[in-house]
Amino acid sequence: MHAAVLDAPGRPLRLTEIADPVPTPEQLLLSVSACGVCRTDLHLRDGELAAGHLPLVLGHQIVGRVLGGSGEAHGLADGARVGVPWLGWTCGHCRYCLSGRENLCLQARFTGCDVDGGYAELTVADARYCFPLPDGGDEDALADEHVAPLLCAGLIGYRALRMAGDATRLGLYGFGSAAHLIAQVAVHEGREVYAFTREGDRRGQAFARELGAVWAGTSTERPPEELDAALIFAPVGALVPLALRAVARGGSVVCAGIHMSDIPSFPYTDLWGERQLRSVANLTRADGEAFLALAPRVPLRTQVTTYPLAAAESALHDLRGGAFEGAAVLVP
Ligand SMILES: [Zn+2]
Ligand SMILES: [Zn+2]
Repeated sequence: MHAAVLDAPGRPLRLTEIADPVPTPEQLLLSVSACGVCRTDLHLRDGELAAGHLPLVLGHQIVGRVLGGSGEAHGLADGARVGVPWLGWTCGHCRYCLSGRENLCLQARFTGCDVDGGYAELTVADARYCFPLPDGGDEDALADEHVAPLLCAGLIGYRALRMAGDATRLGLYGFGSAAHLIAQVAVHEGREVYAFTREGDRRGQAFARELGAVWAGTSTERPPEELDAALIFAPVGALVPLALRAVARGGSVVCAGIHMSDIPSFPYTDLWGERQLRSVANLTRADGEAFLALAPRVPLRTQVTTYPLAAAESALHDLRGGAFEGAAVLVP
């Protein structure tokens, strides 16, 4: 099969032919229909996060179709559509797994990091961690490339949103793939969205307003109202003190990315007043089920730029440069 392979951190992905993966009895063999591009892939590509093995096939927002009878033992017909998320496997018996927090399992294996992912024509995935996806029919919003970004950007963003509790005024720092989905969920839930982008990103601010944000500006600006909570999606530690200053007493700041540059020191008064600062890590299967059930009720619309598999490196390059609104998706 063809795959875009990471040979070493800092090196461009290389399109090559590698052996077809062979599923274990627990795994499904899938033909990849679409694979979303996540900032985590960029962190792995750039060496800011350590790859589980090299060479590695990135990609953990996979929409695929079950192949070759591998779904039989799992009640899935040949050709059934499934989604493969970041959480690829957990131990099932540690204190985290046993308390509904499998996202924190120390032995967890992650798709496109510890096990090969979806920047390829085929992949294998543990059936217990895949989400069945109803067939999309003709509806554009349910097409493979539109569903793929829901599988990380959407559902980890959703976990971050839940951490904001009942916040009415919600700030989103970094208006990319995750924020453009979570803004729609937040508006659907009756919240006010305040969108913060990079300096001078007028296009991103206009996009946020189109999706229902009541205000959009630059990260260094103070919003017109004090926020109840802020979610930080951009990998920029300097946003943490800015966000803390933008939230009201009792408000929370949630860091939703897996990697961030160092957080500069800030005066204790910025945290004082029962403000909270926390991170969100990974996802549980329950998060995925809840979010995928919610998505059609919003209904969520993903803004997608598609790239052929051979252009995976360009997709990462464009993500780094903020060249598109919404999400990038590879289609083999
Ligand atoms: Zn565990
Ligand atoms: Zn991701």
